[in-house]
Amino acid sequence: MKLSNKESIWQVRNSYLGVYVHFPYCFKKCDYCDFYSEGIGAAPANDEKSLFQSYKKEILDRANHFPEIRKRTIDTVFFGGGTPSKASAKHWKELLDFLRSEFSFSDNPEISIEVNPEDLSSELLAEYNSIGINRVNVGVQTLEKKGLEFLGRHYDEVRYHSLVEVLTNSPIQRVGIDLMYGIPGVAKESFLSDLSLFLNANLPHLSLYSLTLEKGTQYSRDVSDKKKGEPEENLQSEILTQLPNILKEHGYLWYEVSNYAKPGFESLHNLKYWTYEPYLGIGPGAHGMIAGHRYGNPRNANLYQKKETSNKYGMIDPSTELSLTLFRLFSPFRYLDFIETYLDSKTKSKYLKTIEGWEKKGLCSIENEVFQWKPEALLLLDDLILEISL
Ligand code: SF4
Repeated sequence: MKLSNKESIWQVRNSYLGVYVHFPYCFKKCDYCDFYSEGIGAAPANDEKSLFQSYKKEILDRANHFPEIRKRTIDTVFFGGGTPSKASAKHWKELLDFLRSEFSFSDNPEISIEVNPEDLSSELLAEYNSIGINRVNVGVQTLEKKGLEFLGRHYDEVRYHSLVEVLTNSPIQRVGIDLMYGIPGVAKESFLSDLSLFLNANLPHLSLYSLTLEKGTQYSRDVSDKKKGEPEENLQSEILTQLPNILKEHGYLWYEVSNYAKPGFESLHNLKYWTYEPYLGIGPGAHGMIAGHRYGNPRNANLYQKKETSNKYGMIDPSTELSLTLFRLFSPFRYLDFIETYLDSKTKSKYLKTIEGWEKKGLCSIENEVFQWKPEALLLLDDLILEISL
């Protein structure tokens, strides 16, 4: 996939497979979160063992339904959630062993896990390293206590204070964090000071998101009831436009709207979502995309374990998929390669015409069949994506 050690140029890949596994439990359900997750406190989940058995069953069921995935090579595995660091490393190791016994793996697959600050310790990272996990991402969001309170996140003061040091000394090289901005009550300076702490620690991957209001969350109910303010959108646009330069000065590549990495440290698993590569989604609330079809699992751990694996698969519209995913990339990609592989001739000409229009307006560059957004496109991105998808 990589063409250079500096800025990668993404292209169509046809023989790989990613695997995403959703662990749905967290210490506490955060107010803004619309992932399928349940807060269960500090104790392990009662059904952890049977949940991992159900993961294996689902993997076999999906492979029986789509036998062609056995011909593919797994090059990324992502343990997400929820809070997968709440499950025992032993269970993750057994699941990895199981996947390795059933499928072929690439020589150096990316094996990621999301970790919450309350679970992060040098011992945990050493354990993950010993079982073959080679990428860790920590959902920090903010270091400000009142910001965490606003988000309704669990706050473990000791772990929050030691996290930069633990990550800096990690035996796993590929580490990253998520930070959030536009939280009401958290000043821009406070966000930038959190950010500079991680920039100075030279972490190889940073995901920088704006707080969003999702329907059905506690946060959206609190906003409707006027108990909490909406995300600070003006501040968010201001920060969003400043970030690319700040990150560039520190040697990061801006490879997706909200994601920055040192060269070679991009999340290869998340890139699959943006470059239309197939992946198995396993676990309650997980989604998968295989052979031109999508499926989704029930957002309920009990139901997921009791029910037979769903055989409902929806056909994908490649035009919509490509517009919503590929054009989120800010690193260069071989646009003709994608268009010619996935689109019919009518949609292809519509895409080419729209892209030509963007180039004329100075929103993107096109060189040797390689497309790249210019920073000018950033604040217009939602509208531009809509333009190409209609
Ligand atoms: S820890 Fe993450 S997954 Fe769990 S509730 Fe909070 S935001 Fe959602």
